[in-house]
Amino acid sequence: MKLIRFGNVGAEKPGIEKANGERIDVSAFGEDYTEAFFGGDGIERLAAWLAKHEGECPVVSAETRLGPPLTRPSKIVCVGLNYAQHAAESGMAIPKEPVLFFKATSAIVGPNDDVIIPKGSEKTDWEVELAIVIGKKASYVSEEEALNHVAGYVLHNDYSERAFQIEKEGQWCKGKGCDTFAPIGPFIATKDEVSDPNNLELWLKLNGETVQHSSTSDFIFNVQEVVSYISQYMTLLPGDIISTGTPFGVGLGFNPPKYLKPGDVVELGIEGLGSSKQAVKAYQ
Ligand code: ZN
Repeated sequence: MKLIRFGNVGAEKPGIEKANGERIDVSAFGEDYTEAFFGGDGIERLAAWLAKHEGECPVVSAETRLGPPLTRPSKIVCVGLNYAQHAAESGMAIPKEPVLFFKATSAIVGPNDDVIIPKGSEKTDWEVELAIVIGKKASYVSEEEALNHVAGYVLHNDYSERAFQIEKEGQWCKGKGCDTFAPIGPFIATKDEVSDPNNLELWLKLNGETVQHSSTSDFIFNVQEVVSYISQYMTLLPGDIISTGTPFGVGLGFNPPKYLKPGDVVELGIEGLGSSKQAVKAYQ
């Protein structure tokens, strides 16, 4: 199943995208895509409800805005430097264990919303990433059990302000949590739709030119490893997002580096998870 949310900012409703691409409104099911939904077998209950009611669900027009395909989660945990070539372009060593950082959940926006270059920013950069959505509370889970705690997968652009991230004192989070820096979607593909999350093609284009093109088969730490690893340090709650890192080809890695400016258009996608597109705007 492909879970979507649609409508105006702050007033999104739950829906699904059918196999034929048609989007339907499932608000009559009575639940939004929240922590309680994911943690309470919502995906299975929604599938059972749809088997009886799908024909009665209103169609959502293709022009309707897509919102993030879940309500604001308790946290976004990101894995840094999870592809060897990206670690090299960042001038950093290949990590011996997963590098973690947090991204503010207030950065979440819809997949095709504008990205705003923050106040004072000169080094706003892109990062196509596979994100994991947690389905069942995960605390001290093993790698063997890890996928039992996953609800599905979603496309994420982990926008990053490199000066805020790297040139300021302290942790990376200053350059990761700016408003609009986490476009999520178009949809969450439930895990039954993704046969191997550790072998998906992913790409990103800047103004029509491909700058990132890789596969999650190049992960240093795969999906099972990162879910298990993070759960040793914090409890992952249903709906929490883990973003698994970006491959080679970010602006920081160009010589000279290439950063976003107003008017740029960023498009990205992952095999089986659709694509998204953000127009770059200046802060006002
Ligand atoms: Zn990232």
